[in-house]
Amino acid sequence: MERPKDGTLVREQSQISLPLSVVPAVVRSVALPVLDERLRGTKFVQLTPRSVLNSPEQTGVDFWSLNPYVGCEFGCTYCYARYAHRYAVERAHDAGKLSDTEFRDFRGEHGWEAFERRIFVKERVLDALETDLRRYFRANPGSDESTPIVIGTATDPYQPAERRFRITRQVLERLSRCDGLNVGIITKSPLIARDVDVLRTLQQRNDLEVHVSLISVDAALIKRVEARSPTPATRLRALEKLATAGVRAGVIVAPVLPGISDDVPRLEALFRAARDAGAKFVHAGPLRLYPAVRDRFLPMLEEGFPDLVARYRRAYDGRSGAPRAYARALATRVKQLQARFGFPVNSGMVDRYRPRREPVQGSLDL
Ligand code: SF4
Repeated sequence: MERPKDGTLVREQSQISLPLSVVPAVVRSVALPVLDERLRGTKFVQLTPRSVLNSPEQTGVDFWSLNPYVGCEFGCTYCYARYAHRYAVERAHDAGKLSDTEFRDFRGEHGWEAFERRIFVKERVLDALETDLRRYFRANPGSDESTPIVIGTATDPYQPAERRFRITRQVLERLSRCDGLNVGIITKSPLIARDVDVLRTLQQRNDLEVHVSLISVDAALIKRVEARSPTPATRLRALEKLATAGVRAGVIVAPVLPGISDDVPRLEALFRAARDAGAKFVHAGPLRLYPAVRDRFLPMLEEGFPDLVARYRRAYDGRSGAPRAYARALATRVKQLQARFGFPVNSGMVDRYRPRREPVQGSLDL
């Protein structure tokens, strides 16, 4: 694997601080500037982190991760990344960047709204990335198999903010000047097709996989469980554009929602649509109901799927992961569909790129 070879790669910085978690350190000593505000009240706030690339040691997973934004306007009810936003807000408050009033505003009435309406934008990302790449290449010295760098593990890198701020594009442009990287991108947004030129360049000298995230082709279901995400049709069109341009891309079905999107006809329709759009792979995994997810997900379940509430409460009682028997049955179903529609048969990136958690016990019938 070739190490960074252009002379501008690493710019020395006198102060390097490793973040303790996926949440970046806030280094400015003044209040956080508001970069933009939408009519419906969403605010975009500048964050200037020292570091943007999180190592496996920092996060407890076996890949490096990068998230250009903290918070996500798409507002999926099952999103497990809300905790990262809460930590960022608490750190900003502790560092004196947010007053008590602003702190309450940045937490929201129920604690989950702010994730969708107070978006931190990691500006000056390239300064931090240069230092991080030096760290990354020190940890991956000359090996033939570099540890993956995954963009979009906690928030969507092509959420609406990216149209204006272009942080993700800057990151990809920088990475495309390296050799031998193994890069994964996860997104629900058709905006990724804007960057097909950079993706093609990146792929010339690096391994790249784009994971278009889509849990169903049922637009009504998507609208119910993902507050402001793009429609299935627009995501599939973006996937087709990537595939046509030769970018290696597939679909990640995460999460599969027990009793809602896990039946064979729905999954078949999704696998068929992915194949028709040129997907190279389809991976899937069941819902994880972390504590930070419950406040947002369960009210949606009560309103939209009241018959399932008791079943979910039983199945996820005292655990975040789906019951093992359910996960096994789903894996079997997914493998059958992968084979039927001509995709590689494996447990896939859901296992590779998800946070590791304790194994779970119990049963939840399909
Ligand atoms: S698109 Fe991803 S990061 Fe954004 S709310 Fe949905 S699940 Fe969370």
